Amino acid sequence: MTQPSSEAALAPKATFDAVVVGGGIAGLQAALDLADQSYRVLVVEKQASIGGRMIALSKVFPTLDCASCITTPKMSAAAHHPNISLMTYTTVDSIEPAGTGHLLTLTRKPLYVDTTLCIGCRLCEYECPVEYPDPFEEGMGSIRAIAVPFSNAIPQYAVLNPDYCTACGACIRACPTDAVKFDQVAESFTVEAVAVILATGYRLNSTSLKPQYHAAESKNIIPPLFMERLLAPHGPYGRVLRPSDGKIPASIAFVLCAGSRDQSIGLPYCSRICCMYSIKQAMLLSGALPTADLTLYYMDIRAFGKGFEPFYQNAKAMGINFVKGKVARITPLHSDPATGAGRQAALSAGQRFRFSSGHSHLWPRT
Ligand SMILES: Cc1cc2nc3c(=O)[nH]c(=O)nc-3n(C[C@H](O)[C@H](O)[C@H](O)COP(=O)(O)OP(=O)(O)OC[C@H]3O[C@@H](n4cnc5c(N)ncnc54)[C@H](O)[C@@H]3O)c2cc1C
Ligand code: SF4
Ligand code: SF4
Repeated sequence: MTQPSSEAALAPKATFDAVVVGGGIAGLQAALDLADQSYRVLVVEKQASIGGRMIALSKVFPTLDCASCITTPKMSAAAHHPNISLMTYTTVDSIEPAGTGHLLTLTRKPLYVDTTLCIGCRLCEYECPVEYPDPFEEGMGSIRAIAVPFSNAIPQYAVLNPDYCTACGACIRACPTDAVKFDQVAESFTVEAVAVILATGYRLNSTSLKPQYHAAESKNIIPPLFMERLLAPHGPYGRVLRPSDGKIPASIAFVLCAGSRDQSIGLPYCSRICCMYSIKQAMLLSGALPTADLTLYYMDIRAFGKGFEPFYQNAKAMGINFVKGKVARITPLHSDPATGAGRQAALSAGQRFRFSSGHSHLWPRT
């Protein structure tokens, strides 16, 4: 993959028509719309690659299109657009009014790689002897201490993680362009912009908000982005396996509203996406694990958008079970709770259900 031409060192006090904070699908689309109208746009992204959450998803509701097939062309179009500049690995420290526009102070974290020299060949990555849990794979796979963040990352620069690097120097010896720079430091920039668009997306709640679900005690009670990676064709295992022992699960329960519409944790509102991505994942699982028992436990199914209701009806027609009831607690049954080999849960209405050899999903608020 060629490097974007637009990720360049900024001149002091560079000026843009708009700065977009966040290089997810929303920020990229906003930047492309403005840039196509001849506005000069800077996209500031705190991660080493643009793409946001969407690039890590498997397929997307309601069409079941491949997520990276939708996202990668937009990432590439933004990176190569003559009117768009990218600043990745960069955070916005402050935004202040200045004249008729805004003055932004930015800090770019050190990649420990000179982006004017790096050609994304990954030779440093292949030689690095240190591995740590891969954040892109939700910790399920591993990544080297110096690596391009994921295969279709844009830009394709290696990033060194100083928390894991042992300074053995193998990457320096392997690099054909002398791009690895241990002495790189953070850089600050100021930019002026008429408009600022905040497209910083969402964060998922921690499963620790619902201790009654005992997620910390079982490897098989997983948050939703784990399942997205398990279902992704280029995911950590290439298929859906139970995290505790690597076996194929016989049953999977989806616990909806696990961190939303819940006054007890101060989150009374609906995330507006959990129902739909749970249905989507269950549909994808029915293809990946045709014999698995798939059940969604829900308060209401909020299929509010265009094409969403038929999507929900299709899931029911495919044999996915929908049980109305808020899950009150999940109790590990197995003598070794870490394996999560069997659990019993209680619905708030008092009904109990039991699922064995399975794993369950918590669906925190987004
Ligand atoms: C499990 C799951 C499955 C989903 N499945 C679907 C689906 O099938 N179909 C669908 O339509 N939607 C789905 N969604 C929703 C989808 O992920 C979001 O609608 C979409 O990703 C939102 O894009 P965004 O650009 O607004 O935010 P994000 O993708 O979150 O991007 C925001 C970007 O901003 C960056 N950022 C944040 N703060 C800063 C800062 N201070 N400075 C610089 N950068 C910053 C982040 O690093 C990130 O790259 C799903 C969500 C989840 C959790
Ligand atoms: S110096 Fe650090 S990043 Fe480079 S190869 Fe050794 S451990 Fe990996
Ligand atoms: S070996 Fe050098 S040029 Fe190749 S990806 Fe690593 S840092 Fe970049």
